[in-house]
Amino acid sequence: MPPVERSELNIAPWLRPLWDALDFANFPNAILLHGQAGIGKFAFSIELAKALLCESSDRLTKPCDHCEACHWFNTGNHPDFIALVPETHRKLLPHGDYESDETPKKGKTAREDSDGDGAEKKEKKNISIEETRSAIEGLSIGSHRGGNRVILIYPLEMLRSDSANTLLKSLEEPPANTIFLLLADRVDRVLPTIRSRCRLLTAPRPNRTQGLAWLKSQLPLIAGLQAKEGDIETIYDEQGGAPYSVLDSLRARHNKDDKDELTISIAASRYLLQSMAQGGRIAWLDAAEKTHKAQFSFLLATMQRWVSDLLLVTQSGTPRYYPKHIGTLQGLSQTAQLPKLLHFWKSLVQARRTENHPLANRIQLEALLAQYQQIFET
Ligand SMILES: [Zn+2]
Repeated sequence: MPPVERSELNIAPWLRPLWDALDFANFPNAILLHGQAGIGKFAFSIELAKALLCESSDRLTKPCDHCEACHWFNTGNHPDFIALVPETHRKLLPHGDYESDETPKKGKTAREDSDGDGAEKKEKKNISIEETRSAIEGLSIGSHRGGNRVILIYPLEMLRSDSANTLLKSLEEPPANTIFLLLADRVDRVLPTIRSRCRLLTAPRPNRTQGLAWLKSQLPLIAGLQAKEGDIETIYDEQGGAPYSVLDSLRARHNKDDKDELTISIAASRYLLQSMAQGGRIAWLDAAEKTHKAQFSFLLATMQRWVSDLLLVTQSGTPRYYPKHIGTLQGLSQTAQLPKLLHFWKSLVQARRTENHPLANRIQLEALLAQYQQIFET
């Protein structure tokens, strides 16, 4: 994708107040931006990195998109921008339209060379230790352009402990003009020692109207996509009101890449929901069989949303994630036993703590779904 000329900020409207509250004249050397996955934190931080590197004299209109620094940034070549992201996130970084070339990049964002074909898929979700080390060691040298240097790390939860310790050292003694932009979906998984050295920024999620309106404005960007409004709303609710995740999943579905992990996960989460809608009649073995190949964290998130809605409805509230299924939820709430439902919620929370290192997805999933069935027994 060629760099585009932008006169407006490329951030979601619900994150705009957060942006407006930033004090560029007095910027902290480390911020930790956290909030639900898929609500635009990454795009926000890209725009923020660009603004911090922009060399325009007018502080109020940064990033200007016209200066040399902005140009370098938009083409993925700014030497003072270092992004430590897993391979799976690289496509989200700004890059020129010559991405496929072997053009060496001055930044440290494109070290694909060390990842051979043999690299495990799992590895690609982690931030490379080598990269972290070399990026942080490189901080002792001054910035290339004499201004700020920005280090973006996302997701911070995926930084391994030795890398986290290296990071901690540089947060304790921050190099001059170096700004760390740290991003996390789950702030509770960030080392407290790192957290305490950052200015915390909480990214809010949009309300449903706002999120859907933004999503619809982005759909023309997916060339040739034809989606029914009702489908889009269903996917929106399924994804827990995270518009950026919905856009990603729509793109993946549209490209009909069956191997795409997200597509598999969405199909699985649908199946899981249909199964859980059966309450005590759930065919849990079948449900686990049909869904266990999907990303475990995604399945757990779906179960959590469903159970959270069920808890709300049981206590005469309205569902937050699946408003369309209010009838089913109300039906289930008639036979659901609250103590068992609460206990199941705890089991889900417990499972989420180890979701990145699941021992045996299928067995765990079967156990959880069997436990779910018990909720409805009289
Ligand atoms: Zn600029």
